[in-house]
Amino acid sequence: MRVLLVEDDDRVAGALIPALVRRGLAIARLATGAGVLERVHEVDVVLLDLGLPDIDGVTLCRQIRAVSDVAIIVVSARGEVDDRIQGLRAGADDYLVKPYDVEELMARVEAVRRRRGENEPVVIRVGDVSVDLSRHEVLVDGRTVALSRKEFQVLALVAGARGAVCSREHVLTEVWGHRGPAESRSLDVHVATLRTKLGRPALIETVRGVGYRLGGQVARS
Ligand code: CA
Repeated sequence: MRVLLVEDDDRVAGALIPALVRRGLAIARLATGAGVLERVHEVDVVLLDLGLPDIDGVTLCRQIRAVSDVAIIVVSARGEVDDRIQGLRAGADDYLVKPYDVEELMARVEAVRRRRGENEPVVIRVGDVSVDLSRHEVLVDGRTVALSRKEFQVLALVAGARGAVCSREHVLTEVWGHRGPAESRSLDVHVATLRTKLGRPALIETVRGVGYRLGGQVARS
């Protein structure tokens, strides 16, 4: 899951980011409201501090909602009840009060994702390849391609990022549960096999030193 953290306080961000990364989230951080609207399409959840130096958080929340239906969790300092209510009115899905702990944040993020889950597309199409995440089925040019469980999981993670980069660490943690050299070699083998089985070597692009992403235009469905 990809989270955009909009937080001007370096101490808060510095404590939060490693804790969330350890829990398998991919985090991008902005310290101001500037640039947020350009980034919301790349993430699943926006964690929005309402007290930002350059723009009123409630206004920014409304602007995000105008361009995207991304999940938004607003964060306010204790006592600022009005901000919270305004945030929810401006289209936020939930709110947190500072100081909050990471487990509470994780629970809110997961709850928001669950509540919105039924709207998620479960079939991802790229050219003549379709990956059905709910039925665990892959079709290339209308024909089913048999994949092993791990091969499907790797493909589902890369496809699920819909063109964003999916890091090797994330794939290893999600599929192998461990990030050692043996697992890393196994991932290389699985990606090579996937490219061969699908007959579409350009579908999974290697981003050197980072991970993988889908090659080609991802269709919305
Ligand atoms: Ca702040």
